[in-house]
Amino acid sequence: MFADLHLHTNFSDGTYTPEELVGHAVRHGLSAIALTDHDTVAGCGRAAMAAAQAGIDFIPAAELTAEIGDTELHLLGYSLDVTNPQLLDEMAQFQEVRQNRIREMVARLNRLGIPLRADAVFTLANCRSPGRPHVARALVQGGFCADLDEAFERFLKKRRPAWVPKFKISALDAIKLVHQAGGLAVMAHPGLNRTDEIIPELVEAGLDGLECFHTKHTPSTSEHYLRIAREHHLLVTGGSDCHGMSKGQPLIGRIKLPFEYVELLKERARARRIPESSPPPSVPTPR
Ligand code: AMP
Ligand code: ZN
Ligand code: FE
Ligand code: FE
Repeated sequence: MFADLHLHTNFSDGTYTPEELVGHAVRHGLSAIALTDHDTVAGCGRAAMAAAQAGIDFIPAAELTAEIGDTELHLLGYSLDVTNPQLLDEMAQFQEVRQNRIREMVARLNRLGIPLRADAVFTLANCRSPGRPHVARALVQGGFCADLDEAFERFLKKRRPAWVPKFKISALDAIKLVHQAGGLAVMAHPGLNRTDEIIPELVEAGLDGLECFHTKHTPSTSEHYLRIAREHHLLVTGGSDCHGMSKGQPLIGRIKLPFEYVELLKERARARRIPESSPPPSVPTPR
């Protein structure tokens, strides 16, 4: 039994609907998935329903863009209570930041002589959590770029002319946010950042796990993070980071996380839900 715990749908910058995603998971023989859309849990209800119908496990989750000092990192929140008011409120703010950022990126493109309209991006994105991939798709659709790679290379990559920095929640606040929503905080694809020096501080702040397996990790990168996870007693997770058809071949099916890691994750989430402050069940003392 295997799982994929890092997946996106069209509720953020993936292309599959939650139902399509579950369909692909089933075809790849996965017995558990987590939906980790950027800054939203809005797709989790539909994905949970589809997963239940398909008879596979579903973990509600999200991917937050955070920072610690000048270092950007992505934090995955697993087993979230998707009705948690503070979580929903903060995510609504992140979504507003994303929408304003799209407008600013389009304004920059306009100043570069590219007559793209923000409405075209929002219509194409058709979600509350739009991102750079939507701008890239709109640039391709409008005939301004040949493909997504060109859009990122010419305009959207960090420090390229249409790139706009994004407000990010501090990693320590993001961990707290995930915890108060009943979830577990996991550092996503640490091998992409290569900023291992921040891990002890995150652990100190309550980080629960490391995404050791990811499509962009080589086997030796995974080994490296498995060692670090062991050292710090962290949970081990893994996922494909599939965005559907947006980046060539869909990545779902490339990571097959052994199910025992999912069980450890669920166990930890359950333990976390039992409030530490609650008194132990009272046992009548014999007199
Ligand atoms: P955003 O959250 O709006 O900053 O967009 C981040 C998304 O853009 C992530 O899903 C990345 O996988 C994707 N992305 C970042 N850089 C590139 C790139 N060079 N080519 C294609 N997609 C990219
Ligand atoms: Zn994405
Ligand atoms: Fe990420
Ligand atoms: Fe992702």
